[in-house]
Amino acid sequence: MDIAVIGSNMVDLIAYIDRMPAEGETVRTPDFQMGCGGKGANQAVAASRLGAVVLMVTGVGNDLFADNTIANFEAHGIDTTHVLRTEATSGVAPIFVDPQSRNSIIIIPGANDHLSPADIDAAADDIARCRLIVLQLEVPLETVYHAVEFGRTHGVPVLLNPAPANAELDFARIASVDWFVPNETELALLTGLPVDSLDEVDAAASALLARGMTNVLVTLGARGVAWYSEAGRVLTDAETVDAVDTTGSGDAFIGCFAHSLVSGLAVEDALVRANAYAADSVTHRGTQASYADAASFGR
Ligand code: ADP
Repeated sequence: MDIAVIGSNMVDLIAYIDRMPAEGETVRTPDFQMGCGGKGANQAVAASRLGAVVLMVTGVGNDLFADNTIANFEAHGIDTTHVLRTEATSGVAPIFVDPQSRNSIIIIPGANDHLSPADIDAAADDIARCRLIVLQLEVPLETVYHAVEFGRTHGVPVLLNPAPANAELDFARIASVDWFVPNETELALLTGLPVDSLDEVDAAASALLARGMTNVLVTLGARGVAWYSEAGRVLTDAETVDAVDTTGSGDAFIGCFAHSLVSGLAVEDALVRANAYAADSVTHRGTQASYADAASFGR
């Protein structure tokens, strides 16, 4: 197995509305779409589309959404042995998109909130066989800390994407991660420092290195990505594209970077490739729907 993604899954319920209903009002919407999402699932799908063998450790409910999520993982060849059925509801995200593309989102984490350290222990033999553990912050922090510790004690490298940003994240318990991958907003919230200029991003990332991190990758949207380590900073420009929908670009970046790492690419090459993959994703609508497979990506 290549990559263990220990994290969230969500079913997006997207209503394309003319306008938001007022209190007590019912409105009809012209269009509706259901899609698979959740940062963990998105990253797993991106990596598997590129050819990675992915183990997904996540929780679902005992409902139709769970069937849909599992079918989506299976369609991508993702190992679902540790997709746990629980009595909670599946994670769902009702999303309202108006004609100006403004969106309002409600997240009901459901089973994602119940993924526990014990669930990681139950999957220990399979996770220990992976060459990379990939984590985000859409499951309980104790579970994230346990996964970080698991990686450290079993010699499996860990990539942590601190998204969505959570100010309660205890750095002392995640300092051993091999890759810490925030976007600018998350970097600002986690360090309490401004990130308006590249100099400020440098200072904030350096503060993380000073707290014991080995590699910090800051994704900078249309400006690309900056890699900070003991050796200094490497800035990799983004590809220039006509962006139509940037949702899920961070997850595309991480899925491709993870696949590139376990494929043995040098870090600099993995960064160029992940930038290209994420740039391609922003030229298509949707989240998972915008992720290319190995054949169409071609690099
Ligand atoms: P997030 O989606 O988490 O907010 P970013 O906005 O930093 O993350 O984007 C992640 C990556 O996606 C960037 O590092 C870059 O490679 C790519 N990307 C995002 N927006 C664009 C864009 N407009 N043009 C080209 N690449 C982009």
